[in-house]
Amino acid sequence: MAITWIDDANVDVENKRVFCRVDFNVPVNDDGEVLDDSRIVAALPTLRYLLAHKAKIVLASHLGRPKGKFRKNLSLVKVAERLGELLAIEITFVEDCIGDGVRRLVQDMGPSQIVVLENLRFHSGEEKNDDSFARQLAQLMDIYVGDAFGAAHRAHASVAAITNFIPQKVGGLLMRQEVEALSQLLRSPKRPYIAVLGGAKVSDKLGIISKLLGRVDKLIIGGAMAYTFLKAKGIATGTSRVEEDRLAIAKSILERAAENKVEIFLPVDHIVVAEFSEESPTKVISSAEIPDGFMGVDIGPQTQKLFCDALYGAQTIFWNGPMGVFEWKSCFAGTKAVVSAIASQNCFKVAGGGDSISALSMLKCADRFSHVSTGGGASLEFLEGAKLPGLVALGYG
Ligand code: AMP
Repeated sequence: MAITWIDDANVDVENKRVFCRVDFNVPVNDDGEVLDDSRIVAALPTLRYLLAHKAKIVLASHLGRPKGKFRKNLSLVKVAERLGELLAIEITFVEDCIGDGVRRLVQDMGPSQIVVLENLRFHSGEEKNDDSFARQLAQLMDIYVGDAFGAAHRAHASVAAITNFIPQKVGGLLMRQEVEALSQLLRSPKRPYIAVLGGAKVSDKLGIISKLLGRVDKLIIGGAMAYTFLKAKGIATGTSRVEEDRLAIAKSILERAAENKVEIFLPVDHIVVAEFSEESPTKVISSAEIPDGFMGVDIGPQTQKLFCDALYGAQTIFWNGPMGVFEWKSCFAGTKAVVSAIASQNCFKVAGGGDSISALSMLKCADRFSHVSTGGGASLEFLEGAKLPGLVALGYG
């Protein structure tokens, strides 16, 4: 790891204009109000460090997927307000991330002042990793701080190209914490090592599943992902979300798991609904087979027990993705049971991903994890062994 970190002895941020790429991509409602501030809280150690060392701090982030256009509910204005409350200081918000207005403001900044720029993705240059956009972001800046681990798997302008246009680049304290915790999972995890995967799509997680098969002792699969595996085993899945084009791969994963002696755990019972709607009444199906006309939306009580028992005695746990449609009150039980069981294991345990963070906030047990990664896709790609553009740009290799 050849990243220079912000608190290294040779990094002097005092009175310097610091462009700090943070990950404020938080869940918001239709009015842009912050529903869960975990990612803002995760950025605080770096921001407190910069404040204490009298830097002039310019914060930049994306929020959602506005695709190069202004969208009121994806403005960072409310995020900036929340940050001000958390730090108990006045924060200046600027209604763009480039241009004359930003330049003037940045020129006149004083030490220990924070300016939050508007959503980077309101400009299409951000996702295109456009040099000219990156150059404009970099204007007047002395030091670049990469602290947005959640965006590190994206070769975007504020993550990658910008580092070519600012004299010094360093990693932030959150970035370091993420890299260190996830590296521990890659290096020599204590056994038994158990991975718990859930969420919507198998296709998103094929890479990590393949990688994990060579490392873990047990793989627990819940969420909609599980139905593709169940169907691949010839089990009826009703109208559950199945990725038909991934059935063959799912089958080969199950075969490889058997060869590698990795125990795979899939649901043995289900909570189902007739229609995909929160209002639709739920029903317990006490077998692995789901009848026609019903779709699985959470793991059932027997599966909860099966999964929780399987976790017992783990020395290392990696968890990513909910066990069901956890956003619905009626379907939170599966995720709640499994996450509580993980939390109660006395071992090295890491959770990753936006939905996992939300579930942990709902259960108020994030502090019982060794590390909660702010990055969903980024943590999966890191564990797959991919080179993340945001880390490479900082000198990681
Ligand atoms: P991911 O982004 O892949 O981690 O997926 C998270 C999403 O998966 C959440 O929004 C859940 O509501 C959804 N999900 C989990 N289980 C199911 C299921 N059985 N059917 C449909 N969606 C699900």
